[in-house]
Amino acid sequence: MTDADNVNMKHLTSRRSFLKIIAASAATVLMAPVAKVQSVFAEMVKADDALAKALSYVADAKKADPAKRKDKKAVCSNCQFYTETDSKAKIGKCQLIQSGDVAAAGWCTSYSLKQKKA
Ligand code: SF4
Repeated sequence: MTDADNVNMKHLTSRRSFLKIIAASAATVLMAPVAKVQSVFAEMVKADDALAKALSYVADAKKADPAKRKDKKAVCSNCQFYTETDSKAKIGKCQLIQSGDVAAAGWCTSYSLKQKKA
């Protein structure tokens, strides 16, 4: 192999590498919004979650049975079992119902007011 052949091979190899990087980057950029949307929707508490049903969980506290939800300010976001995961989407993790995220505006019968730190 001549020096010219070596230069051409290096050129081709670096060009192929460059194209692979561009293709991988483009795929990552294009898929990022899809992954974000999927993560928001795919991680919510499942409708058939047995514990959520047993605790009468609702994603909108206003739709809870008023006989069970007597405190009108009681929502997941101020419950001691709630940890916010996405402030924009207004969702978080519940220590009790763990099949997915709960809505900040949600509620269930295990609601317990978050205690303020001293
Ligand atoms: S325990 Fe608290 S955070 Fe969990 S679903 Fe019930 S009200 Fe929401």
